[in-house]
Amino acid sequence: MSADLVQRLLDGVAEIGADAPGITREAYGRGENLAHALIAEAGAALGMQASLDAGANLNLRWAAKSAEAPPILIGSHLDSVVQGGNFDGAAGVIAGLGVVQALQAQGVAPKRDIEVLALRCEEAVWFGLGLIGSRCLLARLPEGALDLRHARTGLTLAESIAACGGNPARLREGTPLRDPKAMGAYLEAHIEQAPQLIEAGAPLAICLANPGNVRHPFIRIAGEDAHTGLPHRFRRDAALAGADFSLALEQLWLAEEAAGRPMAVTIGRFHTPAAKHSLTAVSGDFEMSLDLRGYSADHLAALEGALQRIAAEVAARRGVSIVLGERSAAAPGPMDPRLIAGLSAAAAASGIAAPHLNSPGSHDANNFAASGVPTAMLLVRNQNGSHNPHEAMDTPDLMAAIAVMARAIAENHV
Ligand SMILES: [Zn+2]
Repeated sequence: MSADLVQRLLDGVAEIGADAPGITREAYGRGENLAHALIAEAGAALGMQASLDAGANLNLRWAAKSAEAPPILIGSHLDSVVQGGNFDGAAGVIAGLGVVQALQAQGVAPKRDIEVLALRCEEAVWFGLGLIGSRCLLARLPEGALDLRHARTGLTLAESIAACGGNPARLREGTPLRDPKAMGAYLEAHIEQAPQLIEAGAPLAICLANPGNVRHPFIRIAGEDAHTGLPHRFRRDAALAGADFSLALEQLWLAEEAAGRPMAVTIGRFHTPAAKHSLTAVSGDFEMSLDLRGYSADHLAALEGALQRIAAEVAARRGVSIVLGERSAAAPGPMDPRLIAGLSAAAAASGIAAPHLNSPGSHDANNFAASGVPTAMLLVRNQNGSHNPHEAMDTPDLMAAIAVMARAIAENHV
């Protein structure tokens, strides 16, 4: 297997997205479109047939002579955040072509079609909604999504899709563009967005699950405004209640992790109201946001119960009210046990260390898993996190992921 094609494509998408000091490939815009063209050209050179779906996702198909089972899909995305890195998304699409090239080089005749998907607009920065290409494909767009406006162009999502060759009228029908039951498997390689593989000294991991979340974007705590001279026992301090509430949630997190139940708590917004807070007043108002993530629906439900309990305890102790307010949720993406076993066997047979890890982030794979498609992910070692210019994946680590996927396919593990 040759790393030449993979390296050339990684360099190609970097050149397309060059926006010093980072990489910007705008979804439904120039960067993503040029990257799609580069990938399509490479697919054509591998004898793959290109097509666009109604969401303007690119599909490259390597057809089996006579397919014995539904196709294996290998996908990810080519857009980036503004001033992001080169590898979040693009590495996974390029890995799909690498797998096809590796199988062809080994003389493996596929028993099933192998399709490489370049899914549109995975990053939420462009429309305030992420995973758009896979949502289009699988009819998982929320109500009103086609009317969202692009952060830079101001065009609606429907207009943006149409401009890239898609068909928003078809998307408005609200049914999957392809029957998920006719998809044999979805595989995605993606850089890890945390340093766990650097810590473990392993080139890749086999993902156990992608997180789901419960979000409360506008939590409000109400106590009583008061003078700084008010003794502690009389205070109903909303700011300290916010701190108390947050630290109690962190204690919950640490206890759950210690019990072997991974999760995360993120408080992205945390403040007294700027219009009235001051140095010399006890604040009667406090505002914050909360993102709770977990890896199974049962665990998330249990966490929501704990959240309610903690809010009630802090409210009683501090003499305040805590209103969690608006709630949104996303389902976790459990990976398919048979595919996990197959990829693990392929890694072991190849002598590649591939621990099992939960994914730190959500990915297009979530939508496939939630639609009932057998789904698996490989996380590739990467330094410096993601969504910043300093992402750093080594090509040999991606080649290891390609070797594992190719072997799993060649040996009928997937
Ligand atoms: Zn990504």
